[in-house]
Amino acid sequence: MEEIAVCLQCGEKIIGRIDKRFCDAQCRNGFNNKLKRVSEKQIIEINRILRRNRKILKQFNPAGKTTVRKEYLEKLDFDFKFHTHTFTTSHNNTYKFCYEYGYLEVEDGLKVLIVNEQPYMS
Ligand SMILES: [Zn+2]
Repeated sequence: MEEIAVCLQCGEKIIGRIDKRFCDAQCRNGFNNKLKRVSEKQIIEINRILRRNRKILKQFNPAGKTTVRKEYLEKLDFDFKFHTHTFTTSHNNTYKFCYEYGYLEVEDGLKVLIVNEQPYMS
């Protein structure tokens, strides 16, 4: 059976080379621009979450270290799925950071210890 290729942008049948994915440059550009818009939207959304997480951590921890109940962060819509990086200490504790503010889950995940600088920087 002969395979029929269709344009990824407009869905029209493609005439010509078998490996072509678009009917013309206009369709290719349109498709690529659409992809770019979608991924830029995702980046903006994730940045928004990270900034909000950072703001919440900062709010609880203007200086030094603080321990707070995890539920207080959740109430402010802290999103535990997102962080910028992690740091594991020599005692094998892994802090999750949102920019320069980090936290470590303590007391079986009931509370978090919030720090405002990376341990390896101090
Ligand atoms: Zn097309």
